[in-house]
Amino acid sequence: MTEESAALYVVPTPLGNLADLTRRAEETLRAVPWIAAEDTRHTGPLLKQLGAKARTIPAHQHNEHEAAARIVEKLQAGEDVALVSDAGTPGISDPGARIVAAVRAAGCRVVPLPGPCAATTALSASGLLDEHFLFYGFLPTKGGQRRQALEALRDQPSALVFYEAPHRVLETVEDMATVFGSRTLVIARELTKLFESIHALPANAALDWLKADPNRQRGEFVLMLAGAPADADNGEGERVLKLLLAEGLPVKQAAKLASQITGAAKNALYERALALKSE
Ligand code: SAM
Repeated sequence: MTEESAALYVVPTPLGNLADLTRRAEETLRAVPWIAAEDTRHTGPLLKQLGAKARTIPAHQHNEHEAAARIVEKLQAGEDVALVSDAGTPGISDPGARIVAAVRAAGCRVVPLPGPCAATTALSASGLLDEHFLFYGFLPTKGGQRRQALEALRDQPSALVFYEAPHRVLETVEDMATVFGSRTLVIARELTKLFESIHALPANAALDWLKADPNRQRGEFVLMLAGAPADADNGEGERVLKLLLAEGLPVKQAAKLASQITGAAKNALYERALALKSE
């Protein structure tokens, strides 16, 4: 590809709309002699369409170590390799990170190409105003572990970005409602595809919204939650907290419930409850 030493090119591929393959990605896939692909059958049609003549190396979750060794061999022999996953950016909730680490450890070049990624595509249209975001990817699949993971994120002031599969979206959204209450949830589905939809609503209204139309539960999902409000002393969190304290609930329980109902940060509400009690 270049006069420099051989490189591993990390090449994002479209999430659904083939027109999203960048020109540089196209040129790279046509030029390299080797393409490491998560699923060679999946990537085959794209390569065929491009007229790419490269030979493929399978590089999936279960053989990343062996694939990495083969790729390093090719690079050390002076041959360029492109790395692709089934869709989006390799290494982002996809195989690739181990390969990149091995290639870098071997002292070979890694060249990343910018391109499609479901997380950034969804965020760009979310309308969430948080200054920062935290990309989480897939949550644990078991209910208890998933709720625990969400609880640990409740007080994060950054927007939270999750990937989810259609067969788990209902249970995940139900857990999000329990933990985040009325905090804004943006559900991005089937991005770049025919039935693309992006819908924002309070987390505790999302389960009913999804259940109202089975089509809303189909396809691929990015779920995004607004970050914890920076100032829980004002507004909804404090209003609910005061009501619960007035009903005689202990400080800890009142803070927990007010946080669950409003999505305000639990620790800040707890501090506020202690202050209110001592006033
Ligand atoms: N590496 C990919 C990326 O850069 O986004 C992610 C791969 S991960 C195995 C697949 C998950 O990404 C899906 O379960 C879904 O959460 C999300 N995803 C992929 N394509 C999507 C799309 N078109 N619309 C919404 N989410 C999508």
